[in-house]
Amino acid sequence: MKEYINNTLLTMQTATSQQLEQNFGSNFSYKYNLPENLKILDTISQNFYWFWTTGGMSIFRDLDYRLWEKCEQNPRKMLCEVSELRLWQKANEPAFVARVNRFAEKMEKYLAEPTKSFGKITPENPVAYFCAEYGVHNSLPIYSGGLGILAGDHLKSASDMNVPLVAIGLFYRFGYFRQKIAHDGWQEERYIDSFQNELAINPVFDANGNRVEITVHIRGREVTAQAWLAKIGRISLYLLDTNVPQNQEVDRLITGHLYGGDTETRIVQEKVLGMGGVRLLRKLGIEPSVYHLNEGHSAFLTLELAKEYLETHENATFADAVPIVREKCVFTTHTPVAAGNDVFHPETLLSCFKDSFPASLRLSKEEFLGLGRVDENDHAEFFGMTPLAIRMCRSANGVSEKHGEVSRDLWKEMFPEKSADEVPITYVTNGVHALTWVASDFNHLYEKKIGENWTDILKDEKAWAKAVNYLSDEDIWNAHTLLKNRLIAFMRQRAYTSATGDSDPVPEHSAFKNLFNPNILTIGFARRVAGYKRWNLLMRDGERLLKLIDHIERPVQFIFAGKAHPQDRNAKAILQNLVNLKGNSTWFQRAIFIEDYDQEIARYMVQGVDVWMNVPRRPLEASGTSGQKAAMNGGLNFSILDGWWIEGYDEVNGFAIGPLRDEEGMDDAIIDAMDAESLYSVLENEIVPAYYEKGENGLPTKWIARMRRALQTLTPQFSSDRMLKDYIEKIYC
Ligand SMILES: *Cc1c(COP(=O)(O)O)cnc(C)c1O
Repeated sequence: MKEYINNTLLTMQTATSQQLEQNFGSNFSYKYNLPENLKILDTISQNFYWFWTTGGMSIFRDLDYRLWEKCEQNPRKMLCEVSELRLWQKANEPAFVARVNRFAEKMEKYLAEPTKSFGKITPENPVAYFCAEYGVHNSLPIYSGGLGILAGDHLKSASDMNVPLVAIGLFYRFGYFRQKIAHDGWQEERYIDSFQNELAINPVFDANGNRVEITVHIRGREVTAQAWLAKIGRISLYLLDTNVPQNQEVDRLITGHLYGGDTETRIVQEKVLGMGGVRLLRKLGIEPSVYHLNEGHSAFLTLELAKEYLETHENATFADAVPIVREKCVFTTHTPVAAGNDVFHPETLLSCFKDSFPASLRLSKEEFLGLGRVDENDHAEFFGMTPLAIRMCRSANGVSEKHGEVSRDLWKEMFPEKSADEVPITYVTNGVHALTWVASDFNHLYEKKIGENWTDILKDEKAWAKAVNYLSDEDIWNAHTLLKNRLIAFMRQRAYTSATGDSDPVPEHSAFKNLFNPNILTIGFARRVAGYKRWNLLMRDGERLLKLIDHIERPVQFIFAGKAHPQDRNAKAILQNLVNLKGNSTWFQRAIFIEDYDQEIARYMVQGVDVWMNVPRRPLEASGTSGQKAAMNGGLNFSILDGWWIEGYDEVNGFAIGPLRDEEGMDDAIIDAMDAESLYSVLENEIVPAYYEKGENGLPTKWIARMRRALQTLTPQFSSDRMLKDYIEKIYC
């Protein structure tokens, strides 16, 4: 017999048991009742607050370390699987129970704080934030990379800063693909079915106890989507899910996979997100002051708003609706790379809408298609979500100063009467959530030497720079060394497990125990394997690289991670080349590729490496954020001057590769050769000597001075609190 440990699960069971059986199988319960004095763990596990707040994660980890890793750091899953004996052992440990209670009190206090108002953004009229993916934590696998992580960090900052904001997204039952590298080095993909009970999301019910659902017209049918709620501290993230029994089988899969399927799937997903999202807000009785379209995926929401207006204004035209819609909508573009900007064939697009849809906007078909074209009158042009968003929003922004400039140039044809620098696209530089990305070792140091309120001090760059000087060189170096050792242990374990399939500890005499050496300069490189990220730049001169790696006194080691798009064979070939280098014994010991890059691996890497490398093709890195995460842990960036690094680099807090701008008209091949030359020579002549130079006290004091400078200058400037403040001041209000 199944047992349910609290009312939430009971209501869920009675209200939707049949649905859940069909959706997720029947296996959804805790194996054992939680002991009375640990029951609060269930509440804690239901809000992602535990993840970024001191003392939260360690509670779950200490409940049962091996199980924690087996459950991939998912507290819900862990509470389902933990053994009865373990639960009662911990329930009999007063220190553990006291820790749990202290954390629960902290959480309760945090959640009870009232939301603030910022100009016209008020608790009654919040910001509605729309995004196709959210990277809040690994255990909610509805993100693929940078965009999702950024959205997750945005929500965490909104929570910490008491900003009234609700977020809308999609619940992808199969999430994003998991990466496995086959024996021949080729990437394979698999998808994992999420069991809802094991995720920290809950069904949304209305006042009458009915499941909140909306419908969207798709392929000649009304498709239903149900709503789930994830709690990100004080922020509500609503997720729409078409996997309900009343839908036809194909429609249940609309929200099946993140960025999976064909163009048609993409269009209908975006209809559910944009139009469905607005309908959901109406059902929930939420009247936003601002709609934030984070990337163009949600831009159909502007059409839904126009339709609403026209329905209540009988004599109005679409042109009358535009200013009303624009006044409420703001848009952030995230990439100048073509593949990142959705465009749809007009026929495919029209086939996904009711024939009468353009007429419901009081537009002809061609006028409707024109909304998504750079040149409204060019009938050959595809329908782009970015032009639609730019047209229908009162504000558009890129995600770094440089990206603002690049975007103005990229979209200037939409504004034929304006010169490129007059194009109304501004910028807000991306940032990352300090409490998520700063390692607990540094967090602890800051709490001890700066104060528990260190994230408040972070808001003032000067005060922060002063505060970081309270840390001694030993403090910084010791924290870093601990983190680096942890990264190496993690990497050995992952390498062993992936090679043998065995998740037990690495045996003492295994070759995997000899991988890497904590005294060697360690460089991290992890990101999507996309063309413009130039994964093979480092490999251009294999001999020179091996010399660096194998230097007798001053060697270098590399850690790589990243996924290739399933359909991108070029990217997979690049990965295969890299992975197959391990046949070389030097390379095997000094370079490693960790499979299945995700938020967890990113955390180990950015917290533990000495140097974080990034070599995108200028000017295609809109911002980049992983380097910001490394900098917050004293990692030194070694990067092409593009995206955020142009704003961050000050010659001391890291290293630059290549020039600030390419010469006009220069061939990509020549640019690559020059950048590779710069990469090798900066490594050989600057980074390696600087790292291995020791001061009189035996510490690399000059290196530590650079680390300190990175902590001082980059942590405040690239925190998501700063980013959100910019959004509030420059964009939302
Ligand atoms: C931060 C992060 C990214 C973004 O990395 P960039 O290439 O620097 O934009 C991608 N994936 C994961 C898992 C991350 O944590």
